[in-house]
Amino acid sequence: MDTSALEKWGPELAHWASEYLNGLRERPVRAQTAPGDIASQIPASPPNEPEEFAALFSDFENLIMPGITHWQHPRFFAYFPANSSPPSVLAEWITATLAAQCMLWQTSPAATELETCMLGWLRQMIGLPEGFHGVIQDSASTATLSAILVAREKALSWTGNTDGLAGQPACRIYCSDQVHSSIDKACWIAGIGQNNLVKLPTQGPLKSLDPAALESAIKADKAAGHLPAGVIVCIGATGTGGSDDIGAAIDVAHSHGLYVHVDAAWAGSAMVCPEFRHLMAGSERADSFVFNPHKWLFTNFDCTAHFIRDPDSLVKTLGIRPSFLVTQGRDGIINYSEWSVPLGRRFRALKLWFVIRSYGVERMQQMIRNHVRWAEDIAARINAEPDFEIVTQPMLSLFSFRYRRAGVDDLDGLNSRLLDAINDDGRIYLTQTQAEGHYVIRFQVGQTHTTEEDVALAFDVITELARGL
Ligand SMILES: *Cc1c(COP(=O)(O)O)cnc(C)c1O
Repeated sequence: MDTSALEKWGPELAHWASEYLNGLRERPVRAQTAPGDIASQIPASPPNEPEEFAALFSDFENLIMPGITHWQHPRFFAYFPANSSPPSVLAEWITATLAAQCMLWQTSPAATELETCMLGWLRQMIGLPEGFHGVIQDSASTATLSAILVAREKALSWTGNTDGLAGQPACRIYCSDQVHSSIDKACWIAGIGQNNLVKLPTQGPLKSLDPAALESAIKADKAAGHLPAGVIVCIGATGTGGSDDIGAAIDVAHSHGLYVHVDAAWAGSAMVCPEFRHLMAGSERADSFVFNPHKWLFTNFDCTAHFIRDPDSLVKTLGIRPSFLVTQGRDGIINYSEWSVPLGRRFRALKLWFVIRSYGVERMQQMIRNHVRWAEDIAARINAEPDFEIVTQPMLSLFSFRYRRAGVDDLDGLNSRLLDAINDDGRIYLTQTQAEGHYVIRFQVGQTHTTEEDVALAFDVITELARGL
């Protein structure tokens, strides 16, 4: 295949993409295939002879599409959204065409400089003060891993990378019991270990980390000869949206010289609306802050915004300069690979530039406000039904509920059956979590193309299928 194939197939794919997106409401949201259905149709060995793109594309439509769960479906209310939007898709096409590795400034100066500029825009959009420097990571998991590595290195006086962790005191990381599993995994990978991740109880309706518990855990650990290193606080935890009092946690952490990282992976996008920023109060004193435009800011995965107060400490932790990466004679430039775990990096700032410019901040605020309002509306309607209950109140656009049919004792089983019925039906897609000791069904609104009617239809589907069980 030569480059002329792009001229021939580009317009065809553009047509396919717009038909696909416009026709999504006709498809079941979650793939309806059984395990192995797709794999069994793929030849066991690769072809020796070249094949025409027409054959590849037709196989894609026939074999692959049935096994796709439609994340861009306007009635995707599961997990969290993984947004996309036309300007973002167009930018991805350009990025794929350029296929530049943007690890060093000189490997594409425009990519580095646009990244710096876009993180400056995003910083202002969410109301973080000047003094935070930004980098795009591939995921919030990686940003949090980087933060935990910096916390570890600071606590060990920068000896962890050189000497390893054997013989060192145990570094301790603190968080609430609501945080995302990526914090656990980061502690595994950083060599800190699960047992040195101290999960503390929460308090209040927002399930916030108890600062008194944090204080006594740090003191007890010091007395035991451990090395308290960092605190991970959270805005909008994954299960039901638990959110810490960031300022209170930072008061305690900083009084002991600990590093503080804020995980706002999902909820951070809502901070473009000033009326929600009370949730992040105190973040201006954090050491780092992460959120995912690839979740709720209309930008394709992968695009994680990672803000750091002191990039030197990050570069001291992750920067490595083998001779082939040394760039001669240029001062004051940023080589972003020294700010991240992987060396290679895609040109991800372009899609942010396209998305922010093509919507404008006001329109993005409006879309997020709508999502939050529609979530509150459907939660109120569900709450008004005598055989349903809201288990966790809306936190921005996320809440959880369960069905309580009179005379049924096993409500967990009932709700698990309801969830299966909903997802087999296909008109909407929801997922479950544990809350208040119960199996509950989560509901979040955040898809780029969702309308108020889509949310209203979800209410009909849920109540109809529940009562038909
Ligand atoms: C989604 C999520 C993550 C993980 O995000 P990735 O970018 O997939 O690594 C971490 N923390 C919270 C609170 C999340 O909602």
